[in-house]
Amino acid sequence: MEKDNPGAPVKGVLNKLTIKDLDIKGKRLFIRVDFNVPLDENLNITDDRRIRSAIPTINYAIDEDAKVILASHLGRPKGKYDRRYSLAPVAKRLQRLLKKEVTFLPDCVGPKVEEAVRNMKEGDIILLENLRFHEGEEKNDEEFSKGLARLADYYINDAFGAAHRSHASIVGITKFIPSAAGFLLQKEIEYLQGVTQNPVRPFVAILGGAKVSGKIDVLLNLQDNVDKVIIGGGMAYTFLKAMGYEVGDSLVENDMLDLANEIRNTVTSRGIKFYLPVDCVIAQSIEPGAETKIVTTQEIPHGWRALDIGPASVKLFSEAIENAKTILWNGPMGVFEVDAFSRGTFAIARSVADAYALTIVGGGDTDLAVQRAGVSESISFISTGGGAALELLEGKDLPGIAALTDKKST
Ligand code: AMP
Repeated sequence: MEKDNPGAPVKGVLNKLTIKDLDIKGKRLFIRVDFNVPLDENLNITDDRRIRSAIPTINYAIDEDAKVILASHLGRPKGKYDRRYSLAPVAKRLQRLLKKEVTFLPDCVGPKVEEAVRNMKEGDIILLENLRFHEGEEKNDEEFSKGLARLADYYINDAFGAAHRSHASIVGITKFIPSAAGFLLQKEIEYLQGVTQNPVRPFVAILGGAKVSGKIDVLLNLQDNVDKVIIGGGMAYTFLKAMGYEVGDSLVENDMLDLANEIRNTVTSRGIKFYLPVDCVIAQSIEPGAETKIVTTQEIPHGWRALDIGPASVKLFSEAIENAKTILWNGPMGVFEVDAFSRGTFAIARSVADAYALTIVGGGDTDLAVQRAGVSESISFISTGGGAALELLEGKDLPGIAALTDKKST
């Protein structure tokens, strides 16, 4: 998922052990991965990128003659066995991708699992059943954490998408065995923390998605290092209303109006350029087939809502990112799930992909938008985490990272 880029790569610093700091030859590694993949009604995996993302760490461990025990959650089975959330289909797909045998165990703790891991040989791979079939996982239960820790000599976290959760397999287990970051976790931190702390300038942030409240902390965390902020998506209309525009029935968070104005004033007074849509695609309903019009953002009539940015905004935003050396994009420009409102998002995806810059996409919906626009391969880094990516961009400490063993303590 990385491409050549002109700037020196931004790098966040991880003061925690990484898998390379450990001597793993012959050792049992409990590798927490994020195999929470989407399944269709026949339990076929519809998107296996999360499995693929873990492969560098798994292959490294095998090449170093470790014994690999993989564990993940899948869906929300509420603490008990539910066939729909079994990791069995994942084991098959993983086996195909690795071209190596993967033994699937029907549980993740207990005497039978302990016996199976005791019998492992160097280079063996075991995938445990869904951690969330046990209540202790989400409760970060100490006994359950100990049960997991008993399986291995070392713990490796490569589940970035779950690193913001204080669960047993993310936090609890780290109390009992030395704990280190896998390659995916490391890369996510390098890019996402790096872009907030040490971006190559000019640095442009594009923020979109439904609500201002969901992105405000990202904006606040970026303001020391960002040169331009581009706002699209539903959140733009709270900013526009706060400036006195009539925005019809567009999505507005009325309790955020004062804060929106305050932030825009603070940011612009610091010399940061702040861009809002100048035109938009409006409709009276979100239904496919509804009548649409393109109007300027000053003339959104009552009964109509803005559901995408218009062509003039695409031009304005695309020109604004032209000279950027670093671009961070989080949140779609419109309701891109519906064809009629997807053009603005896809056009921005193409502009970001074409930019001669280090380009970072912040996971979740934006990842999907970039895929649908067909430009994933031209983005420098696409985060695998939704909530976790946002928290890192907000400058928060993720529990799953904080819990890993400090570098200096060994
Ligand atoms: P978020 O999770 O906050 O990034 O929001 C993503 C969601 O925002 C997507 O599902 C979009 O459909 C939605 N969205 C984007 N633009 C708009 C808009 N103008 N009005 C309503 N929803 C929007």
